[in-house]
Amino acid sequence: MERIQNFINGQYYEPNSNEWLDNYCPANGEIYGQIPNSSRIDVENAYIAAQSAFPTWSQTTLEERSRILIKISELLEANLNHLAKVESKDNGKPLHLASQIDIPRAASNFRFFGNAITQFASESHDSVGHQAINFTLRQPIGVVGCISPWNLPLYLFTWKIAPALAAGNCVVAKPSEITPMTAYKLGDICNEAQLPPGVLNIVHGLGSTTGQAIIEHPDIKAISFTGGTKTGAHIAKTTAPLFKKLSLELGGKNPNTIFADCDYKNMLETTVQSSFTNQGQICLCGSRIFVESSIYDTFKVDFVEKVKTLKVGHPLKDDTDIGALVSESHLKKVMEYISIAKQENGRILCGGHSVKVKGFEKGYYLEPTVIEVLTNTCTINQEEVFGPVVTIMPFNSEDHVLQMMNEVKYGLSATVWTNDLQRAIRMSKQIQAGIVWINTWMMRDLRTPFGGTKASGIGREGGFEVLRFFTEPKNVCIKYG
Ligand code: NAD
Repeated sequence: MERIQNFINGQYYEPNSNEWLDNYCPANGEIYGQIPNSSRIDVENAYIAAQSAFPTWSQTTLEERSRILIKISELLEANLNHLAKVESKDNGKPLHLASQIDIPRAASNFRFFGNAITQFASESHDSVGHQAINFTLRQPIGVVGCISPWNLPLYLFTWKIAPALAAGNCVVAKPSEITPMTAYKLGDICNEAQLPPGVLNIVHGLGSTTGQAIIEHPDIKAISFTGGTKTGAHIAKTTAPLFKKLSLELGGKNPNTIFADCDYKNMLETTVQSSFTNQGQICLCGSRIFVESSIYDTFKVDFVEKVKTLKVGHPLKDDTDIGALVSESHLKKVMEYISIAKQENGRILCGGHSVKVKGFEKGYYLEPTVIEVLTNTCTINQEEVFGPVVTIMPFNSEDHVLQMMNEVKYGLSATVWTNDLQRAIRMSKQIQAGIVWINTWMMRDLRTPFGGTKASGIGREGGFEVLRFFTEPKNVCIKYG
């Protein structure tokens, strides 16, 4: 059984805290490792290392920062097979997903921001008539905190760390305590890429202990957080009196809206993916499906037929479509939502039960579940389930569906299927979400802003937006007359 350690100042350290947390394998329910529940002292040690590294790293040329980040990217690619297995074992996701999506994307994050920082420009203004020139300095903030969730572990951990480092900050980072393993491996890779010691420090532990120590640290000046809305609200409240810069990427309850004039075949294939990829545990999954009445009955039959072909199985098997949910408590929570939906007159069209996978009976498996609901105000259409569960219901008009799409506290993403370009643009302008996909889902260009509105968060990641977040703008005004 492996006991993992914190990565501080370029070395792996026994934690100061002597409290250990069990790490479970979701595929078979077994404990296979332990992580430290790092204390305030551990976080302080990480902070001191980061602060000591900052004067040099912040003055390191952009070319050199870029070179190191791209080297990290190459090493992630070179270790792809190993890291994908580690991710799959830790999270329960199918291995093919980890090797085709999660780890390649972690590598892309470092490559992208390694390149982007060399293109990142700031403004200047000629104050005509005043004999003055203004320019904007964009300086790294200092030591920043990055806190990430369990659903896309290395993918989202590096989505924060790579731009933070590219912009010249030093980082104290905490991955989810539920999926710490690939973040743990990142330390060795950073050393091999010759990232200077202290520039990236990784501490492990519970949100309420280690995470809390990061957000309360008076000298960690910015927090980039991805996770649940409740935790995001807590972080906002805690950090407000400390005037920290905040980026919060939170939950979603994303609509997937299907008009009769869409490319039906493409829509059907993609709707299955957007509902169930990663066991439905992606913040961007389309969990509320609205279908135009004229094709509702046809869609219902075709969709359910396709969903029934998805194979629930061990994550390491090639033919597995749906792996294990991340934890026993999460499985219970998702099942609880299914029973609430039934109590509120939802009709289960397929799935709804946990699954015993042969040989791995203690794993946390659940059938992909489709529920027909009567209203958009029912609990399962209003609260984030974050599992392999979607609802479907018909709509009569564009206005009707727009009202239902926006009638939710979240505003992360939305998908619309239509071949009517005018309608697509009209709706894009009215949908309350940070990301709108027309005739596609989860197509990501890393240059574009990423994030949500309403209870889905504040701030944007991606492209130059996140480099702006991780730098402090300073106006310099030169009077030359
Ligand atoms: P979570 O909020 O429970 O935990 C996320 C991280 O925050 C973990 O590392 C956790 O240890 C830490 N944390 C918890 N309490 C903390 C505290 N008091 N102080 C500091 N850190 C604390 O979320 P989760 O269950 O890990 O992830 C699932 C959620 O993440 C879902 O709601 C999902 O929608 C959301 N998510 C959002 C996005 C996005 O980009 N918007 C992406 C992925 C996941």
